Amino acid sequence: MTELRLAGVSKRYGGTETSTTADESGAEAIALQNVDLTVRDGEFFTLVGPSGCGKTTTLRTIAGFEEPTTGTVTFDGDPMTGVPPEDRDVGVVFQSYALFPHLSVAENVGYGLKFRAPPAGLTVDERVRELLELVDLEGMGERDPTQLSGGQQQRVALARALAPAPELLLLDEPMSALDARLRESLRRQLSRIQSELEITTVYVTHDQAEALAISDRLAVMHDGEIEQVGRPKDVYREPASRFVAEFVGDNNVFDGRVVDHDGERATVAVGETGVETGMGSETQTQTQAQVETQKQTRTTFTLANVPTDVTHIAVCVRPGALSREATQNQLTVDIETTEFLGERVRVHGHWNDVPIVLRLAEPPSGETCSVGFEPGAAHVLSSSDD
Ligand code: ADP
Ligand code: MG
Repeated sequence: MTELRLAGVSKRYGGTETSTTADESGAEAIALQNVDLTVRDGEFFTLVGPSGCGKTTTLRTIAGFEEPTTGTVTFDGDPMTGVPPEDRDVGVVFQSYALFPHLSVAENVGYGLKFRAPPAGLTVDERVRELLELVDLEGMGERDPTQLSGGQQQRVALARALAPAPELLLLDEPMSALDARLRESLRRQLSRIQSELEITTVYVTHDQAEALAISDRLAVMHDGEIEQVGRPKDVYREPASRFVAEFVGDNNVFDGRVVDHDGERATVAVGETGVETGMGSETQTQTQAQVETQKQTRTTFTLANVPTDVTHIAVCVRPGALSREATQNQLTVDIETTEFLGERVRVHGHWNDVPIVLRLAEPPSGETCSVGFEPGAAHVLSSSDD
């Protein structure tokens, strides 16, 4: 069992094929910036973020397919610098199943056991049978991988990665080629297998819903950096940044300016727009105060949980907190689309320039819908310009 740690890991891809140094500007790409991460022993840990944010690079760095430009990767305190992938004791599953088509299912699963003896004194055959059972493919060993469905092939890939009993299991978007229903059942299977084996696991996905559902903890990545690490419910309830607030789950985010604070409740102006009075007169320099007085306030919210020392905030309200019954903090939303989700409908629209998403029991009847939220129902982030 293994604890994985990344300390100050950066990865730059140089402008030329051989150069990975940072000294040339121009065509260099910064894939990772100063990533610090600890994955605990036996944990199911997920890296989640949009395409291009550095998830695969992080995973490849852990596996040893890439060396970091700076920083270190350690397994249980042992530095992995210079250790090639085959000596790192990791099992890797990729998006494409990458099974050997000329080998049977059993031969695929047993492949890694040519280089490393099966654990616990088992023979190769015994270990292969054990793994096929673990992934619910008993009796399929003689089949050709091409005879299997996508979900079955991915389970073979998982069994192959696990057969040598690696210290770490790394999975890079292993389900993204599968349809939704299959993804869900494979996800449950993976969850069961991981907790049964108690193997330290790093799972990569761009799908935030999947990340919330499957992980013990997750890291939200953005532009090569980690924005937040935490348990799914903490990241969902208390996003640390605007990016996380908008990326993880549906959210409604309003820019606000604190205009009054009594120590408990704050009055926050939202939907402000600047009114240009000195049209085109670039010689007339306006002070910040003058600009503020020329702003038009569309409405004000009354909010709890606003720090007393901030002026500019982002107010995040989950769709579930916006209801037609609430009497405070009211908005009239212009409705654009309605999606029927079975038990609920999801409504997309706008309030002024702010995109709004609602989750309602019944579809709204008109072109607008009035909703509100309680003062304590918003999550407040202080803006970076404070
Ligand atoms: P993700 O898996 O989150 O989609 P990647 O880790 O694949 O992101 O990529 C992160 C960034 O690094 C991207 O901007 C990508 O273009 C860049 N990148 C990845 N691999 C290479 C490479 N071999 N050479 C140059 N740039 C790369
Ligand atoms: Mg990737």
